[in-house]
Amino acid sequence: MTRPMMPAVDDYVDLVKGLFQSRVLTNSGPLHEGLEAALAQRVGSSHLSLWNNGTTALLGALSQLELSGEVIVTPFTFPATAHAISMLGLRPVFADVTPDTFTIDPASVADRITADTSAIVGTHVYGNWCDYTALGALGREHDLRIVYDGAHSFGRKAPVFPTSPDAIGDVTMFSFHATKLFHTVEGGALVTNSAELDRAFRRARNFGIASEEEISMVGMNGKMSEFHAAMGLLSLKQLDAEVEARTLLADGYRRRLAEIPGIHVLTDDRSGQQYFAVRIEDAEYGHSRDELHLYLRSLNIVSRKYFYPLASDLPQYADALGPGGLPVAERASRECLVLPLYGDLGLDNVDRICDAIAWKARS
Ligand SMILES: *Cc1c(COP(=O)(O)O)cnc(C)c1O
Repeated sequence: MTRPMMPAVDDYVDLVKGLFQSRVLTNSGPLHEGLEAALAQRVGSSHLSLWNNGTTALLGALSQLELSGEVIVTPFTFPATAHAISMLGLRPVFADVTPDTFTIDPASVADRITADTSAIVGTHVYGNWCDYTALGALGREHDLRIVYDGAHSFGRKAPVFPTSPDAIGDVTMFSFHATKLFHTVEGGALVTNSAELDRAFRRARNFGIASEEEISMVGMNGKMSEFHAAMGLLSLKQLDAEVEARTLLADGYRRRLAEIPGIHVLTDDRSGQQYFAVRIEDAEYGHSRDELHLYLRSLNIVSRKYFYPLASDLPQYADALGPGGLPVAERASRECLVLPLYGDLGLDNVDRICDAIAWKARS
């Protein structure tokens, strides 16, 4: 379904050669510092910290926000979002998503706020923004922290973030895993508007160490190595060309899929096109999402039911449901399918995939 960007092997060897002499392999070496600065510049924030993956970044972020009790979270996300809440001993409470973007629905969040609520965690699904204005207002009204899982939103065309300070929330996490658009093999980042939180996040990622003899808080090892940072510096150079190539392919999908009844494109066309997601309305299309998924698989076309199952359907979160159920998220999880998309997929393959989807509609 996706293929990671790869730098030329010689460029990688050239970049890491110095590490074999300097033996500075991790702990904020020069490549790490270079990548952190380059990403901060791209995002337009002076408070970006690099982490060794998105999940530890989210754990580190949540650990520094003085949370307690319940955290309202979207079920339409990768399980890591809810796991990070749960691993810190907090209770995830799932809210429903909106029918247009499948991001957390501020009205459903409002229904679930109690005296025990301390934060809201939303995911920018397929690069579509959460309603950060409404969520920011809820946060101020009820004194809640606002956290965004931005694992799908890095690499969007500028501006990476809209100019509203609410867009970042208290903190936004990015994942730089190999399956994401921009990657460092394994990696992640936190962005915040607060210098104080940025300092706390950096300390949390390095065992709570403040100075040689002062360990000022409980922390972990969330550091990115020099070898990973080298991959990041090289993929960053390829990123704009990759986004451009994916945008052309996504436009190809859009043109072809517009002719097929029951197939609705979900990916915002201004996003970095990390995923090309569609929704299959079975009454109109004539087949369910699962039938199309299996049919494509039989042709060796790999699509993904993303996100299925919902985080709220995992047995470990069986008691985490708020009132009123999650009808929109449940439907999204039944109907969404992510189609293959990567820079060198080729328009001929996009055509082949769309031919298969159109043929199935008529069968
Ligand atoms: C990939 C992903 C994560 C996890 O990021 P890692 O870097 O793999 O730890 C979390 N949330 C979402 C929405 C993701 O897509």
